[in-house]
Amino acid sequence: MDKSDNSMAVAIFGGTFDPIHNGHLTIASDLAQLLDVNEVRLVPCAYPPHRGEPNVDTEHRRAMLATALSHTNAPLIIDDIELRRSTPSYSIDTVKLLRKDIGADVPLFMCIGMDALSELDSWHQWQQILDFCHIAVSSRPGYKHPDAGPLSEWIACHRSDDLSATQRKPSGCIYFCELSMLDISSTNIRVKLGKGDKVDLMLPDSVISYIQKNRLYE
Ligand code: ATP
Repeated sequence: MDKSDNSMAVAIFGGTFDPIHNGHLTIASDLAQLLDVNEVRLVPCAYPPHRGEPNVDTEHRRAMLATALSHTNAPLIIDDIELRRSTPSYSIDTVKLLRKDIGADVPLFMCIGMDALSELDSWHQWQQILDFCHIAVSSRPGYKHPDAGPLSEWIACHRSDDLSATQRKPSGCIYFCELSMLDISSTNIRVKLGKGDKVDLMLPDSVISYIQKNRLYE
């Protein structure tokens, strides 16, 4: 398969999206271009295994995603695969299901930030994730590459610096993306909204309007 055959490739970008912000949207759109995938599926989690309950319910998080994506030209879509399960949102279950859905040969990228990579060894069945997809890692201000222990050895074993070679395989590689991330987090947005501070430019206007209309994060 050469690069032009990569048109079916899929990337997923999971998160709590509590709320979705311009950091998510910018990186997801840059990843679509860099990885040359047909679509980036934003996958909101239902029951995050590594953190407390989201601050607003599933329907609000999904609605904020929908309005944000309706204002972008990038190939970003919502995939509610985790919202349809009543079990904790383990990534291994998600990539297993997606692999079944897209077939054995289509390249699948699970996109995560360095913050998520540094704690990957606490994820359920983390070492099996690469059996079903690649992992594309973006750096994030304030987070460093794990540099010791089993996680760091596992990364070294599976790291690929050759994107074209990675794109020709369905799964199995860890690729570090040279993309700059905006220093925005949902936590910071929630804190600002709680204090009544302005959040313009941190998230799309349509999401700000939705938050105000529904009096979220007050
Ligand atoms: P919170 O502050 O509530 O933890 P968050 O801003 O980190 O939220 P999540 O929904 O938890 O957002 O993140 C989902 C994914 O988005 C993670 O892989 C994370 O690395 C990535 N991400 C979050 N913020 C940014 C950003 N500013 N730029 C690029 N990626 C980001």
